[in-house]
Parts: sequence; structure tokens; C-alpha cells
Amino acid sequence: MSQGLSLPPDLRWVDAGNAGPFTLEGTRSYIVGRRRVAVIDPGPARASHVTAVAAEVAGAESVVLLLTHGHSDHAGAAPALAMRLGARILGAWSNGYDEGEPGSSGPLPGIPLGVFGDGEGVDTDMGELTALSAPGHTCDHLVFHWRDQRAVFVGDLLLGVGETTWVGGYSGCVADYFASLDRVENLGAGVLLPAHGPPVFDPEARLGRYRAHRRERVTQVERALDAHPDASADELLLTVYGESVPEGLLPAARASLVALIEYVKARR
Ligand SMILES: [Zn+2]
Repeated sequence: MSQGLSLPPDLRWVDAGNAGPFTLEGTRSYIVGRRRVAVIDPGPARASHVTAVAAEVAGAESVVLLLTHGHSDHAGAAPALAMRLGARILGAWSNGYDEGEPGSSGPLPGIPLGVFGDGEGVDTDMGELTALSAPGHTCDHLVFHWRDQRAVFVGDLLLGVGETTWVGGYSGCVADYFASLDRVENLGAGVLLPAHGPPVFDPEARLGRYRAHRRERVTQVERALDAHPDASADELLLTVYGESVPEGLLPAARASLVALIEYVKARR
């Protein structure tokens, strides 16, 4: 469908430039509306990025900052922007602000956080954004459905490139992740807007690729556990991921594997 290849008119974004192994070329902060504005994922706590986002929304009557989740590359700029713009911050927070990951910007002292529940909406002058619970990347991850434009801001549920995102770190995350991919697919969106990388114009195919990749990992773990039922996560790490994992990514690969092992064992 030709319609599927166009972006919502007047959608704006500011790229934060915080490139890294988990952020691709960096975080993309999306802006919806001109007078009543929502900023989706304000980005990392970088002065240059805060200034750029603030300039982009200058003149708005009201600004709300929406967080797909609390990781610092998404939420770090929220306190500074909230103070500068008098904006509210809305997120899910069932897991608190950030998860104490390395590089966490910590709690938000003195900044009131609004709790955003599944199905709640925020109004902009370009239509309503509805928060939908989509856990897996974190236990409290939200996506924002922009129904008028058949678009979904997917945060880190999937990225603009590749076939994998971070799924690990809490019990039940793999099952949650599969359910969240299904949930977003069922929205029938024409475009997905990830917080890292370019827009996705083939939502069904891309969600399918992310699902297939994770299923492949599940199958690998099933086979490894068939062969070595009592193997530890460390022992299985080489079997599943091979020797290609860079040393810096080993802790993440291990945590992701622990989650897969839990998923497989719970289904035996
Ligand atoms: Zn994240």
C-alpha cells in the first residue's frame, strides 16, 4: 500500500546523537502537535539535546513528556525539560525510574511523575496518543498508539534496523515480549516509530522478524537443555551465542540467556 510508505504529516523529531552499542545512532525524540504538544522519549541528559528539544517546542501552549520506559537514554532529559518547559512527565513506573542500569541518571528529585496506565490517552492538537502496556524490554514498557495516523511509537520494543532488542533482566520478560509483539501487530498500524533507527513501514514483516529471531533463540536453548539438562547459564552461553559475543556485551548476553532458560523451563 502506497499509504504505508508515508510518515504522518508534521511529525517532528530530534536525534540526540548518543550513538552506542545499545542505542544504534542514538535516541530519537519524537514531537507530536504544535500547540498542545507531546514529546515521546525526551532522550538522554545532554545539554545540547535538551536545548534542541526545547527550541523545537518553543511557543507551545502545553507540553507533556511521555516515556516509553525509564532507561536513561530515553528519560534522562525529562527532568531538565520538565523544569524548563513546565511540562508534566508521564510514564508507567511500575519498576521505578530506571532500573539502576550502569549509566542510570537516577531518580527525579522534586519532579512530579504522572502515572500512565494501559489505555490512558493524552490529547494533542494532532490527535490523541494512547498508552498501551507492552512489556518485555522492561517490565513497564509502554508504546503510544497514534490512532489517527495509524502510527505506533514503539520505544525499544523493536529497533529501526536488525531483528533483536534487549529482552532480559526480569522474570517473565520473554513471554511478555512475545505478547507485546502480538499486541502491537494487532493494532494494524501503517508505520512503527522506534526510539532508535528509522521508521518501520512494514510493521507486520518487521514484528515477524523480531518474533522469529527470539523464537530461534528459544529453540537453541531448548536443544542445548535437551543435550545438557543441568548446564548452567555460563555453560550454555557458548553453545547458544558462540564465541562471537564481544566481551563488553557478555553480561547482557548472559542475562538474555537466563531469561530464555527460564522461559523454556517454565514450559516443560
Ligand atoms: Zn531501553
